[in-house]
Amino acid sequence: MNGRSQFVPTEGRVVALCGGVGGAKLAVGLQHVLGERLTVVVNVADDFEHLGLHISPDLDTVLYTLAGLSDPQRGWGRSDETWNFMDALKQIGGETWFLLGDRDMAMHVERTRRRLSGESLTAICIDIARQLGIRSAVLPVTNDKLSTMVDSTEGELEFQRYFVGRRCEPVVKQIRFSGAQDACLSEEVVASLDAEDLHLIIICPSNPYLSVDPILAVPGMAEKLRATSVPVVAISPIIGGQAIKGPTRKIMDELGLEPSNAEISRHYAGLLDGLVIDITDAAGAGDLGVDVHPVPTLMTDLQSKITLAEHALAFGDSLRATHKRRIRPLRSEAHHDKT
Ligand code: GDP
Repeated sequence: MNGRSQFVPTEGRVVALCGGVGGAKLAVGLQHVLGERLTVVVNVADDFEHLGLHISPDLDTVLYTLAGLSDPQRGWGRSDETWNFMDALKQIGGETWFLLGDRDMAMHVERTRRRLSGESLTAICIDIARQLGIRSAVLPVTNDKLSTMVDSTEGELEFQRYFVGRRCEPVVKQIRFSGAQDACLSEEVVASLDAEDLHLIIICPSNPYLSVDPILAVPGMAEKLRATSVPVVAISPIIGGQAIKGPTRKIMDELGLEPSNAEISRHYAGLLDGLVIDITDAAGAGDLGVDVHPVPTLMTDLQSKITLAEHALAFGDSLRATHKRRIRPLRSEAHHDKT
C-alpha cells in the first residue's frame, strides 16, 4: 500500500537507534509518519573489511529498506538481485562465505572508494541516502572503527564470522565492542540528540546485545539518553518469549537471561521511560519498572510498520504530557559475561 498516516505527531524531531532488519522495519513506519523529522542512528559494529571492501551490513539494510529497495524475503540486500559476481568468485576459488549480490556490490565499491579518498562514513552515508531519495536522515553512530567480538565456545570470533560464517551456532559467553572506548559519536549524531526540537528517542526492536549495545557503547551515547529531557521509548524485540528473527532468544538463553520483556526492561534500565510490548504479552507482564504500552508489535507489512510507529509516537507524546523531569536510576551493569 502507499497509504498515508492518520496520526499527526505533534511536532519536533525523533531519533531512532537501530540495528539491521528488525529495526529497519520500524524505521520504515517512522519515516512514513515523520519524513525528514526522523533521524535513524545505526549500528556500525557489524562493519568489516572483506575482499578489500568496507562492508556496513546494518547501514545498508537501513538504506535499502528506507529507499524501498530491500529484498522483502531476505530482509537484507537488494531486491531483484543477481549473483554473477559470487558465481565467478567461486569459480576462481575466492571466499564465498559472505554473499555479495551484483547490485549490492555497487554500494560496497563506491563506499570503499570514497573512504579511501578521505570521506567520512557519515558524509558518504548522507550523500548516498540523498541519491536514493530517502527523506529521513540516516547516520552511522560513529565514524570510528567499532567491532563486535563474540567470545564463544569456539573462542573469540569477529562478528560476521560468528553471524554469517558460523550461522550463530557457537554458544556465546561474552560480547565486547572492540574500539568502543576510543570511538566518538559523530558530530551529526550529537547534533541530532542535542537538537532543541528533539521530541522523542526510540530504541527500535533490534537485537539488544548485538545491535543496540554497540550504539550505547560509544562514549557519550548512554549518558545522553540518561540526561535527555525527552522521553526514551523502546520497542521490545521479544514476543511471547521468542525473537521474531535472528539469534536474540538464543543469545539470551546462552547468557543465562530470561527471554522476557522484564529482561529487556532491565537491560535498558536507567535509559528508558517507556517500553512498547506486544499486546499478547500484556496479561503476564507485571511491573516492568517503566511505563508499558501493549500494542500489536509484529510488523508484517507496510501498514503494520506504520501502525507500530504511530503507537510508539503516541506513547512518547503521552509520556511527554505526563512525565515531569525524570529521575533515572543508573543503568545496571550489563550481564553479558557468563564466565
Ligand atoms: P539484525 O541486524 O538483522 O539482527 O536486526 P536487528 O538487530 O535490527 O533485529 C533483530 C531483532 O528484531 C530480533 O530480536 C527480532 O525479534 C526483532 N524483530 C524483527 N522483526 C520484528 C517485529 O516485527 N516486531 C518486533 N517486536 N520485533 C521484531
